[in-house]
Amino acid sequence: MPLDSNDKTEVILQGIPASEGIAYGRVFVFIQSEVEVPHYQVEPEKHIDEVARFDRALVLTRQQITGIQSEVEKNIGPEEARIFDAHLMVLEDQALITETIREFESTGLNVETCFNKISQRYIKAFAEIEDEYLRERASDIRDVAQRVLHNLLGQADNSLSKLADQRIVVANDISPSDSAGLDRSTAMAVVTDSGSKTSHAVIVARSMKVPAIVGMRDLTKRVRKGDWAIVDGYDGAVILNPSESTLFRYGKIREQKKSMEARLLDANREPAVTLDGKKVSLMANIEKVDEIKLVTDYNADGVGLFRTEYLYLDTARIPSESEQTIAYQKVAAALAPNPVIIRTLDLGGDKPMTGNPQLFPKENNPFMGFRAIRFCLEHKDIFKDQLRAILAASAHGKIMLMYPMISGAEELAQANALLEECKGELRKRGTAFDEKMVVGTMIEIPSAAMTADILAEKCGFFSIGTNDLIQYLIAIDRVNDRIAHLYEPTHPAVLRTIKHVIDEAHRKGIKVGVCGEMGGDPVLAPLLLGMGIDSLSMTPPLIPTVRYLVRAMKMSDAKKLATEALKLSDPKEIHALCLKFYRERMTAE
Ligand code: PEP
Ligand code: MG
Repeated sequence: MPLDSNDKTEVILQGIPASEGIAYGRVFVFIQSEVEVPHYQVEPEKHIDEVARFDRALVLTRQQITGIQSEVEKNIGPEEARIFDAHLMVLEDQALITETIREFESTGLNVETCFNKISQRYIKAFAEIEDEYLRERASDIRDVAQRVLHNLLGQADNSLSKLADQRIVVANDISPSDSAGLDRSTAMAVVTDSGSKTSHAVIVARSMKVPAIVGMRDLTKRVRKGDWAIVDGYDGAVILNPSESTLFRYGKIREQKKSMEARLLDANREPAVTLDGKKVSLMANIEKVDEIKLVTDYNADGVGLFRTEYLYLDTARIPSESEQTIAYQKVAAALAPNPVIIRTLDLGGDKPMTGNPQLFPKENNPFMGFRAIRFCLEHKDIFKDQLRAILAASAHGKIMLMYPMISGAEELAQANALLEECKGELRKRGTAFDEKMVVGTMIEIPSAAMTADILAEKCGFFSIGTNDLIQYLIAIDRVNDRIAHLYEPTHPAVLRTIKHVIDEAHRKGIKVGVCGEMGGDPVLAPLLLGMGIDSLSMTPPLIPTVRYLVRAMKMSDAKKLATEALKLSDPKEIHALCLKFYRERMTAE
């Protein structure tokens, strides 16, 4: 860690730790949503400069859009690239430009304020038009207006994938499609004003071993691009303008953590067997095909959750059946004979397909809305393309298929009926697939948990999605930082529900895993195993700690821990019990 001193005062700010690690570097403020527009009077002698500044921003915006357009044309296709013609047309709209200049001449207010006022008026007018095509132009104007404002404010490069240098990314929030552009070599840490431990940008950060903190409230307003900061992803602290003694202290902490990590990695080649001889299956959660390497590097027993929606998130286009077949086949073949659980599309909720707003209209309650299996059962063509791709890939490894957000037996039956149709179509085509491919379902909605006995009769395995299950059980929006402290995995309702699902699954002879973030939390993993969970699936970098713990504990003790925890009523007391269990084993040598 360089001892780079500066003359500003040190400020320590607290958020919620979301991905472990320590980073020190310069801040990049990523402004994704509405730009905060400054408002001031321009002195009369600077009026000509102000108009020239506006002209320059328009020219720069045009260059950026044509740049993106030619990249899209090269990488995706000419049709998709034409989407940006509409953006260029907005920029050429003389009415928007001349009205802005007229507004500036009559008020003398800075051009950001004038341009914002006029563009907002246009956005509102278009948004109220009946005609759907014209109504959609409102979002083109909004996009372009944001870009012009960013340029006027000197925030030209607003893409996470284009960070030129290593930076600490500070953002209000990061959408899943923006998080898909995060690059480990440039994003040293991710810090957001809102969000929670289970928001998708955080899940991506964790899989990349990038430290992350959420719930900072107003950090984006307190920092300036280029400020220096330490991000402590263990404790959730952001230290702005750290003093030399703080830098020294963190340098030491980082060294200690690194040597601990090296010890854990060393032991990571050993099998995950408890001291009393029980083998535990540790699987990997992945979002992208190129994460195959992480699965093998971290010695996972396969993939417990492949979040396929990431193939759709950073593009405006639905991937074709053959593109998907290639992707799934690559993962299955690389990891065979280990299993790969491919989850069908879970778009919507916090993962809308931003490039395709017409498929995902804005909803008041997106988490309880048109997402995942609900979307798939309505967009059967999109769903069947994916099902055929998964089936075709199943001939090349051990693929298991899993549906997200199943709320009851009826949905499962509908999905399976479509799967049967797809099998018939492949047989007709002469395409080989694994006739015995096992099909399971996620248990992440309380109604599915309560009907686990019925569902268990109709599928091959369960995987508990604790991220969603907890949010629905306790009614805590998983991405709302104001209530993040109430999101308690050790709430008795959560533990009882998980126990019920495990017992019903086992009664019907099927296996049950956990693939939500709770499964990769080393403090809670023994509790889940003690309750009878058969496998844990987590972001690969978490595997070494969980493996170390599994090897340091007895399953009989984990069972006692679970029995005791299930008798308690206070989530904090249960957590403290688990923490004690964890600490005793992690420190014992
Ligand atoms: C979950 O809900 O726990 C889960 C694994 O799915 P996702 O986080 O993708 O919603
Ligand atoms: Mg989920």
